[in-house]
Amino acid sequence: MKISHSELAKKFINNESRTDWHDDTLWFVREKRDKAAHGIPEWEQLRDWASQIKDHTLSNLSSYLIEFEEKAKANGVHVHWAADADEHNKIIYQIIKNHGIQKIVKSKSMLTEECHFNDYIQEQGIEVVDTDLGERIVQFRKEPPSHIVLPAIHLKKEDVSATFHEHLNTEKGNNDPQYLTEAARQHLRSKFVESELAITGVNFAVAETGGFVVCTNEGNADMGAHTAAVHIACMGFEKIIPKVENLGVFLRLLARSATGQPITTYSSHFQKPRPGQEMHIVIVDNGRSKQLGREDFRNSLKCIRCAACFNTCPVYRRSGGHSYHSAVAGPIGSILNPNLDMKANSDLPFASTLCGSCSNVCPVKINIHEQLWKWRQVIVAEGHVDKSKKIGMQAMAFLFSKPSLYRFVGKSGRLIMQIFPFIINNKFNAWYKQREMPSPPKESFREWYLKNVKNNSNN
Ligand code: SF4
Repeated sequence: MKISHSELAKKFINNESRTDWHDDTLWFVREKRDKAAHGIPEWEQLRDWASQIKDHTLSNLSSYLIEFEEKAKANGVHVHWAADADEHNKIIYQIIKNHGIQKIVKSKSMLTEECHFNDYIQEQGIEVVDTDLGERIVQFRKEPPSHIVLPAIHLKKEDVSATFHEHLNTEKGNNDPQYLTEAARQHLRSKFVESELAITGVNFAVAETGGFVVCTNEGNADMGAHTAAVHIACMGFEKIIPKVENLGVFLRLLARSATGQPITTYSSHFQKPRPGQEMHIVIVDNGRSKQLGREDFRNSLKCIRCAACFNTCPVYRRSGGHSYHSAVAGPIGSILNPNLDMKANSDLPFASTLCGSCSNVCPVKINIHEQLWKWRQVIVAEGHVDKSKKIGMQAMAFLFSKPSLYRFVGKSGRLIMQIFPFIINNKFNAWYKQREMPSPPKESFREWYLKNVKNNSNN
């Protein structure tokens, strides 16, 4: 197994002020989302529609994908199908090779992160430049994004300044965001001009037209696609929607849920290559069919990657995206990743309080917290929990099934905690390491209840 979520989270929370700042920043985004959502009276209606459209699409997936392929081909677009990450990477490399291209630009695409495309293509000697500002920052630092919408949200402006000083030769210690953004802009402009091939993600692919929509706030997908001779768009097959009119629902939900904006700054519609340009679409499965076949988890494929569930999650906000050791972090990542590799990601469904806030904010009404709970059951049944947790749970099950033993242990425990607190408050107790332990109550709830019921019935 990879290093677990709790181990990685431990590193993140070592820096308490940064953890507080990360928590506050994401909560600020969550509040912006609330304001935007409450600003339109039909919000819940939109969520219902989005959920229903996605349910319908998932139930008729093959016919919509085939319709999309036919329409896209008729528009002059080359359509490729990739069963897994490896095939996705090889298809793109083949296109690059066919054109003898050495430099490419890429706008934000979590699918390419999922497929580890950058590592693969750099091993082939091709330069790939991420053009989303946050992604470029983490690319310079050789880190993965920590958030699907705000890839560098774990970094402060001082970190960005140091990174740009090292890679872009900006003034040392100049933390002015405008200065730093301008430096990035100049740097990226030259990359756009040099590049011959642009890769973009896809937010929505429309079956009835064969067109697709890419949403960015920086216009970098457009810059890349409009300057390069070859445009490759990569999409997981769940990005398909039936009709253009459905965009009216999803575009309104996406931006408000993601950043609290009424609309993403650039919602660019691509339909066919411009004269002289070549356009490709790579449609990827990579475990999605398997997830579709899992009755309890199939509707996780409704996700539109808005990250609202990240921003509201108390665990994500206080453990940081890198602690999820996967391309897609947060609550939805904890549902998607065990499908890709159950053993390696068996810790993720446990990284949740199951408070349900993620499900409350999800614009497509995915029952996220219920699926996290269901994954825990699958993971236990498949034997992927560590021994100490398993033994602990078995001991608790035994104790809970013997009421008199439970009462005896509770009473003795309270007594021991009062007389010898160090037995509980020591470095072997993981809870005690980070928290003050509460003092033990004088009586159990049961004792209190019996006493009060007795008193009340005597009155
Ligand atoms: S699960 Fe829902 S809230 Fe989370 S990223 Fe996907 S659409 Fe957004």
